[in-house]
Amino acid sequence: MLDRHIDAAARPAVLEIRNLTTSFGPQERPLVAVDGLSLSLKAGEIHGLVGESGSGKSITLRSILGLIQPRGRVGGEILWKGRNLAALSERELGAIRGKEIAMIFQEPMTSLNPLLPVGLQITENLAAHTGLARAEREREAVALLDRVGIPGARARLADFPHEFSGGMRQRVMIAIALASRPQLLLADEPTTALDVTIQDQILRLLQSLAAEFGMSVILVTHDMGVVAACCDRVSVMYGGRLCESGPTADVIAAPRHPYTRGLLHSIPRGVAPRTPLYSIPGVPPGLGERPPGCAFAPRCPNALDVCRDEKPVPSVSAGGRGLACHNPEPGPTEETR
Ligand code: ADP
Ligand code: MG
Repeated sequence: MLDRHIDAAARPAVLEIRNLTTSFGPQERPLVAVDGLSLSLKAGEIHGLVGESGSGKSITLRSILGLIQPRGRVGGEILWKGRNLAALSERELGAIRGKEIAMIFQEPMTSLNPLLPVGLQITENLAAHTGLARAEREREAVALLDRVGIPGARARLADFPHEFSGGMRQRVMIAIALASRPQLLLADEPTTALDVTIQDQILRLLQSLAAEFGMSVILVTHDMGVVAACCDRVSVMYGGRLCESGPTADVIAAPRHPYTRGLLHSIPRGVAPRTPLYSIPGVPPGLGERPPGCAFAPRCPNALDVCRDEKPVPSVSAGGRGLACHNPEPGPTEETR
């Protein structure tokens, strides 16, 4: 993973999100689901977006593709190949959605059509997004199912989604998403519903597909273990805002935001073997209940008065680490002093 990370660092950004703000409700009293999020993604990079339920991860992904129902207000910039997706019309976004940028979900049945055989769902996507002739489309559908690890792929083209197990359905959904050869895959908790062994297989599949196709991935998860297993970089979100971001290995080795530390403590094994299983006391605030200062202040062991009064402003330091915290844990240099 280290080599992948070094490679990725030298590449240009393909997606640049600046100050993304997505809100619902009345203009005068908006409910802000994503509050000033910035994120930069390089070609071939797998970027983990992690945080507890309700932190705004799904809304962030949906904002990129304009897929929010009921329609929210999306502000800021989502720069993709020189265009600001946040400012495009529904028709212009429609041309990018499912082609250059594809999305997969935790529950495959939300994006698979239960009434159509999976082969047809792949060939339809190929017909819409590639110039392949009919016979080639069928060959490609078999190749895609095979590539994502469906045994006896040709024989399964005629099967319906319900005839696949959970893990296999997830693979089918990935095959359909890949049919258009997207340059960016938005994956919203694609392994959360699966047992651990299958989860590992799907994550490894996503990693090898990203490397093979030079495809970038934003992987949404609430699980730091998933981030540790397969993400080059990570952004930690809480209450709609960015807490901390950076190369995964660096963030895990020396988390600076108390929320990141809390999430890391709750990994059962691997990172901190002797730490008892832990969950951060308290619950995240709802959209209408965000405190005026740092959203995490009410649950934060490091909170000072300033944390309750003022929103921390994100800053970026050397090494590409981003941090929004008034009273962070000491950084590696401070510790050695
Ligand atoms: P996550 O994916 O991190 O669990 P979400 O992005 O789904 O969180 O949601 C962030 C917050 O926005 C939640 O508090 C959720 O209830 C709220 N929310 C999501 N969709 C809407 C909507 N259409 N209208 C109002 N609030 C919403
Ligand atoms: Mg979600």
